[in-house]
Amino acid sequence: MAFTPEAATAVLADRGAERLRGGHVWIFAGDILGWEPGPEPEAAAAVRVRDRRGRLLGWADHNPRSQIRLRLLTRDPVATPDREFFRLRMAAALAYRQSVVQDSNAFRLIASEADGLPGFIVDLYGSALSFQVLTAAMAARQPALLEDLNTLLRPSVVVERNEAKIRSREGLELRQGLLHGDNAVVEVEINHLKFGFDLLAGQKTGGFLDQRENWAATAAWAARFGVKSALDVFTYQGGFALHLAHAVPGLQLEGVDGSRPALEAAEANFRRNRLPDQTWIEANAFDLLRDYDQQRRKVDLVVLDPPAFAKSRSNLSAAIAGYKEINLRALKLLPPGGLLVTCSCSHHLDENGFLAMLQAAASDAQRGLVVIERRGQALDHPVLLAVPETRYLKYLLVRVV
Ligand code: SAH
Repeated sequence: MAFTPEAATAVLADRGAERLRGGHVWIFAGDILGWEPGPEPEAAAAVRVRDRRGRLLGWADHNPRSQIRLRLLTRDPVATPDREFFRLRMAAALAYRQSVVQDSNAFRLIASEADGLPGFIVDLYGSALSFQVLTAAMAARQPALLEDLNTLLRPSVVVERNEAKIRSREGLELRQGLLHGDNAVVEVEINHLKFGFDLLAGQKTGGFLDQRENWAATAAWAARFGVKSALDVFTYQGGFALHLAHAVPGLQLEGVDGSRPALEAAEANFRRNRLPDQTWIEANAFDLLRDYDQQRRKVDLVVLDPPAFAKSRSNLSAAIAGYKEINLRALKLLPPGGLLVTCSCSHHLDENGFLAMLQAAASDAQRGLVVIERRGQALDHPVLLAVPETRYLKYLLVRVV
């Protein structure tokens, strides 16, 4: 059923057809003129897509209950999204990672739209696999996709993390669990450092793998600039902190997070790598930065990697105010020559908006900044040039002049 595409064809309004031709992969409900043979199918499945003039634009996953009504699977009108089609997409995703992932056995294997598999996310942590299915059409294929992934990878552990709230908007239930293997606690190696993850308990599917390359880049810059003290704010399980402590022996380091279990995991990661223990502070980052500012503390490097403040376009200005506040406070802790690493994972705030926010904070803090590096998410989280939503992570390394 999941692989026998219905004969239904969605007929797009010109705006929708232009959007697909322009390279995007989503069609909203308002850009569909009608259905052939009609009416709109009720079950979520793959459908054909054509423009008003009858030209085929490809195949897309359809869900009548979702605002994003169609998600493009292929632009090739003669392809058929059958089981082999998805098997090839998964194999291609793996081949790409084999070329771009270095020094790590934990990475995102399948990144939804960016791998031509909308709504399917798979992370590998060594031989353990953790997945999310976020659309109804993909959910119908879940058993077959997992079977084929099993043939491809023979994972020792399979964890389902289908608890994202957006599933309810697709009419899917929320659940998580261990589907295969007997332990969801794994140890992996990232940039030659050991990390422990509990794949059932952590945020995301366990870790923030999208920062993997940025952890290493930050540590290398800290060593080059001879940083002596660092504050890793929103440290989670110590990704930046661990890399910094490893690259800069004797570094005076503090890691801050609002989550006690995250800090405990960070501490365990330091022990795992035989690194001297650090100061872990359970605090609200906003309060802590304000206190440190009032105490006129100074630190050579501040890392800010907050959760996405802009969850939707409607709260963008409140989100920008939040980013500006923490960046302003962090800048005030930096002496001349100090470094700030600042990140945002809200795709609603684009890089220009993020730069403008930082400049506003710098001007309030009366600091001049030199941009040393602009980065994005790690390469295993591919960016589709035509789909700005796939470039969500912004990373800036700036130096106070
Ligand atoms: N830097 C981490 C990822 C950070 S994720 C890494 O590289 O792996 C964001 C983190 O911010 C989460 O661990 C969450 O617990 C924490 N957090 C969210 N709001 C916070 C707040 N107001 N104060 C402190 N920590 C907060």
